[in-house]
Amino acid sequence: MLAERMKNLAGSQTSGMRNKAKQLRELGINVINFAAGELDLPTSPAIKQAVHDAVDADRTQYTDTLGIRPLRERLAQRVSKRTGVPYSAEEVGITAGAKQALYNAAMVLFDPGCEVIIPAPFWVTFPVQIALAGARPVFLPTEANQFQIDLAELTRLITSRTRGLILNTPHNPTGVVYDRSTLEGIAALAIKHDFTVIFDECYEQLVYPPHEHHNLVKLVPEMKNRTVLVNSFSKTYCMTGWRAGFMSAPKQIIKAASNLQGHVTSNPSNLAQYGALAALDAINEPFLSNVQEVLRARRECAIRLVGQIPHVRCTVPQGAFYLFPDVGQLLGKRHKGKTITDVDALAELLLEEAHVAVVAGSAFGSNRHVRISYAVSTKDVEEGLLRIRRFAEGLE
Ligand code: PMP
Repeated sequence: MLAERMKNLAGSQTSGMRNKAKQLRELGINVINFAAGELDLPTSPAIKQAVHDAVDADRTQYTDTLGIRPLRERLAQRVSKRTGVPYSAEEVGITAGAKQALYNAAMVLFDPGCEVIIPAPFWVTFPVQIALAGARPVFLPTEANQFQIDLAELTRLITSRTRGLILNTPHNPTGVVYDRSTLEGIAALAIKHDFTVIFDECYEQLVYPPHEHHNLVKLVPEMKNRTVLVNSFSKTYCMTGWRAGFMSAPKQIIKAASNLQGHVTSNPSNLAQYGALAALDAINEPFLSNVQEVLRARRECAIRLVGQIPHVRCTVPQGAFYLFPDVGQLLGKRHKGKTITDVDALAELLLEEAHVAVVAGSAFGSNRHVRISYAVSTKDVEEGLLRIRRFAEGLE
């Protein structure tokens, strides 16, 4: 009954784990949920008020496919400022979250048969969207290089069929941030070999000093012609469920994305766009600083406690809100007589026995890591990591 394209398309493992944790909670089990990729905080009063006002003003109709003019203009100014390169409102499109911006980019840029390079581990959705466009994801392993991109490795993967590269910095799930020289090297390769870069910077404001976020177009302005910048209101402004993201790219790409989006979802939510417009207001700066401060404290706590889990090693995250510990040494050990065969089995056991939801690394292309989101309360960070530690200590 189902189409061929659905044969290899499994549901998102991150959403799957999030739902399982919720179900257990509904049964009254105190599950610590490290699986959700979102902050536990409510959004700011100013953003909420703007949406209330939009309801009162009867903003109930369709908007232009790529969003309301004031928001596109405001974002164009902001992207121009952040990149140092002028972007007009016609070079910005609003989407139902960054996920739709990424999907638009994959569909309008890549043909069946072409190759798109994705550093691995990767955010779950990247390869799926590339495959839905009919293109072939080509994985660039980064694990041996502390999840940083090795330019020589990247060069080796480039072929005459390479049409694109997806970069995500700060990175989900590893927390790494790409440095300036790596990004400059990537830009030189993109120009030399004539491919496009999709640059997902959803976590750009969640970076921990002394690390810094670098935007590819800012570093190499000629990259504007071949870059799709993807961004989101979800993470920074605690608006995940409202669905507001945006893409910035040359007009031709934005026009094609508009044609596609017009047939797929029409416009992003009218109300959410008013929330997004308010999010950019200076009045939200203290809210944003608070989000950054809260995450800084949780990150410190998480790094300290993950370091106490036996047989587990973890790269120190530089941005976003995830730990991606290497649990390879726990595999093959036994829990109550049951052998932990792989990271999926480990994630299942952690949920069932320790009541901690994590996402198995297999979702992100790794068979020796799990992802832990520390965007939950400090109390939960402490309790959850303590439960994992006790679980690991009890293994035979
Ligand atoms: N890109 C990355 C790297 C993400 O982690 C996420 C959310 N988990 C998204 C895109 C999608 O975010 P949004 O809610 O804006 O669709």
